[in-house]
Amino acid sequence: MLHRQFDSFIACDADYRDADIVLFGAPFDSTTSNRPGTRFGPRAIRQESFGLETYSPWLDRDLTDCSVFDAGDMELPFGDSKTTLALIREQTATILGDGKRPFLLGGEHSLTLGAVQATLEQYPDLHLIHFDAHTDLREEYLGVELSHASVIRRCWDLMGDGRIAQFGIRSGERAEFLWAKEHTKLRPFDFAGLEEVVAVLKKGDKPIYFTLDLDVLDPGFFPGTGTPEAGGASFRELMEAVHLVMEANVVACDVMELAPGLDTSGVSTATACKVVREMLLLLGAKD
Ligand code: MN
Ligand code: MN
Repeated sequence: MLHRQFDSFIACDADYRDADIVLFGAPFDSTTSNRPGTRFGPRAIRQESFGLETYSPWLDRDLTDCSVFDAGDMELPFGDSKTTLALIREQTATILGDGKRPFLLGGEHSLTLGAVQATLEQYPDLHLIHFDAHTDLREEYLGVELSHASVIRRCWDLMGDGRIAQFGIRSGERAEFLWAKEHTKLRPFDFAGLEEVVAVLKKGDKPIYFTLDLDVLDPGFFPGTGTPEAGGASFRELMEAVHLVMEANVVACDVMELAPGLDTSGVSTATACKVVREMLLLLGAKD
């Protein structure tokens, strides 16, 4: 007997109605400041996911036991950040309104703003956990306020002080690091202090948006990204940190900034796939 070929992330073939988690791709990299190519990220992640097992020995869980719907890639007006963010906001709002958890695959990091806006509407008490090599706290970049170098600053515009925690940060302007001292909890270089942050959020049962810029990984492990920064996390360090975050009430999340064409070995894409699988398994285990 022949089977239908699903063009989804591996084993994410649940019906929308039954799904707890909805994956969707946003192929957009218009404001990328250095090397472009993240628009090809979500498609590459889906394709290469078939190189993975559905079973994770680390978690002892299998994707076939999770209920995930893969909505594919959105059609986005390339070069138009404002409309793109509005479309992502709308799609995220629909998913949340249907009682499911959105899982966005980037695409450049600026797209997180649309998803955070929608999540904040649903959860006014939302907190943001941000893993990245970069502060992403610029007021504007080359005159562009919706740049991927400004995305966390734009989130702060909506959320204010005391609700954003940043980890793994090792690049930015001096002014951004100074600004962060007053307005966010920024941990440079690694994930120290994450456990305490998560414990406080768990205690208050706070809803969390988790945004993962994959360039938090060391470029030795993950060169396939537009703005690589030496001195980053190993895969295992990242996964331990992700595990901690996922113990709390993560209501929406994203995985951003894979530029598959910048790593012809394919290792970066394979790594991104594995990160996505483990995150789906951790999210899916809540129900
Ligand atoms: Mn970023
Ligand atoms: Mn970054």
